[in-house]
Amino acid sequence: MEEQVRGLKDLLRVAQAVVSSLDLDEVLQNILGSAMGIMEMPAGSIALYDPKMEKLSLHAHDGLSRAFTGRQSWRVKEGGLSHHILSSGEPLSIEDTDRLSFNLDPVTRSEGIRSIVAVPLKVQDAIVGILYLDDFRPRAIDPERRGDLSILASFAAMSIANARLHKEMSRLAHTDGLTGLFNHRHFQEKLRVETARAARYGKPLSLVMFDIDDFKAFNDAHGHPSGDKALMIVAEILRDALRECDLLFRYGGEEFMAILPETSLHEALVAAERGRSALAEMSAERLAGMDFEGLTASVGVASFPRDARGPEELLRVVDGLLYRSKRGGKNRVNFIAKEFPPPIRNGRIKL
Ligand code: GH3
Ligand code: MG
Ligand code: MG
Repeated sequence: MEEQVRGLKDLLRVAQAVVSSLDLDEVLQNILGSAMGIMEMPAGSIALYDPKMEKLSLHAHDGLSRAFTGRQSWRVKEGGLSHHILSSGEPLSIEDTDRLSFNLDPVTRSEGIRSIVAVPLKVQDAIVGILYLDDFRPRAIDPERRGDLSILASFAAMSIANARLHKEMSRLAHTDGLTGLFNHRHFQEKLRVETARAARYGKPLSLVMFDIDDFKAFNDAHGHPSGDKALMIVAEILRDALRECDLLFRYGGEEFMAILPETSLHEALVAAERGRSALAEMSAERLAGMDFEGLTASVGVASFPRDARGPEELLRVVDGLLYRSKRGGKNRVNFIAKEFPPPIRNGRIKL
């Protein structure tokens, strides 16, 4: 009776930790510690399962050597212990690893692990991870403790599912539903963070703003749904024209903004011109399949700290430069020419 009460108190303590922390690895470490206590096992680990990659990744461990825990993620091998757990979906107790019907991976064997309790962590029917408890000697596993262990396993599974849900919600909150680019809200946040970083490290940062020319006319001619499709294509073309480390946002309806970290005005002009010309040249071809003419964009480019003292001013400046491109005849790039003569020919930037 006393032992049962102690067991329940233990579970309650873990449950409180689960609901009070947002840090998944901290929660998993806590659950692992309790599971080791309940089963009286000196070592253990919790790995998360990625079914797409067929990989497990280590998120909590205790009592294991650096050689064992240094392996951050590994592929599930056919015929191995993890493969067995993942395909059966059932917990497994191994009382002596020397008498096994399937392969034990070399890392586990050289760690000296001789007995194992492995529990799949399930949410509904999906396995999101595996909890392993280990001992370095062969031993009998007490079946009476399995009930508490399965409660702990379900805490772990729920925590993993919650963390994944949280991550997905946060991704959705930053993403524009039509183009898959980052949205306006995320732009505001990133512009602040990246300008502060640029100021701290004394590096330049550039902002490139694209506004599609005469898009209202495109909508009027082809209808709003076709306009939406065209915006998706524009987003793809601009994404491809920029570098991997540049951040592209859908700033407004048909306005796109790129933050180029650690990029001077001169380098940003190269990117802006690449975006502008890619759109002018490729959109006709990409939209032709849908029987539409091509699109162009007017562009403004400004750099911090060259053209502005902070993020708000930078945004105002780039917006003004974009407006100048519109007034100047559209499908062109504008920037503030200072120390070098403006390399413009026929209204186009010459690089
Ligand atoms: P300008 O060359 O001066 O930029 O002309 P414009 O017609 O592109 O500019 P304006 O700002 O007057 O109009 C933008 C148009 O973009 C208005 C709106 O119909 C269209 N638009 C904005 N967001 C969306 C969207 O999500 N889907 C579609 N299909 N059209 C949109
Ligand atoms: Mg506009
Ligand atoms: Mg426009």
